[in-house]
Amino acid sequence: MELVFVTHNKHKLKEVSQMLPSGFLLRSLDDLGFTDEIEENAATLEGNATIKSQTIFNRYHCDCFADDTGLEVEALNGAPGIHSARFATDGHDFEANLQKLMSLMEGKKNRKARFRTVISLILEGKEHQFEGIVNGTIIDIRKGTEGFGYDPVFIPDGYAETFAEMDADLKNSISHRGRAFRKLCDFLETR
Ligand code: IMP
Repeated sequence: MELVFVTHNKHKLKEVSQMLPSGFLLRSLDDLGFTDEIEENAATLEGNATIKSQTIFNRYHCDCFADDTGLEVEALNGAPGIHSARFATDGHDFEANLQKLMSLMEGKKNRKARFRTVISLILEGKEHQFEGIVNGTIIDIRKGTEGFGYDPVFIPDGYAETFAEMDADLKNSISHRGRAFRKLCDFLETR
C-alpha cells in the first residue's frame, strides 16, 4: 500500500521509514514533486497537521499523512509549541532555534518539557488523528550529534542521555513521533 508522508524533512522520513511495517511503500513530497510552501497557520498542532494532509489530499487524491510536532517547555509557558520550527527565525533554522531555547532557559530551575506529535492521516478521504507524547527535561549544555532540532538538549524521562546521543532505533522506540506513528501503524494493520 502506498502512503505519502507530507514532509520534505529527510531525518523524519528516515525515522518513519525504519518503523513502517512491511507491505507499505512510503513516498515523500519530493517523490510527488510538490514544492509549494504549505501555510501552517492553525493555532494548534492538530490544526496544522490537518492543513498539511488536507492540502496534499486535495491536490493528489492519495492516501497520505502529515505530522506536526511541538516542544512544550513548562518554564516557558508551553513555548515554543506550535512555533517550534520557526522559534528564532522564519527559516526552519535548527541551530538558531536551539540557541534561542538554551538562552531562554539559562538560570531556569524548572527544566520540564515534552515533545508532542499529532499525526493527521487521510485514508480513503476520511481523516483520523493520532497523538504521541514524550516527557523529559531540557539540559543546559548540548550533548550528542544524532537526530535533529532540539535533540541535543532533550533528555527523555527514564534515560541519562539526550535524544542526540541515542541511535535511531532507541529514539524511535520512545519518541513522540514514534509513539504517534505506532498508533497510526496499529490502526492501518486493523484495516
Ligand atoms: P515538525 O512539525 O515535525 O516539523 O516539527 C517542528 C519543529 O519541532 C522542528 O523544526 C524541530 O525544531 C522540532 N522537532 C520536531 N521533532 C523533533 C525531534 O524529534 N527532535 C528534536 N526536535 C524536533
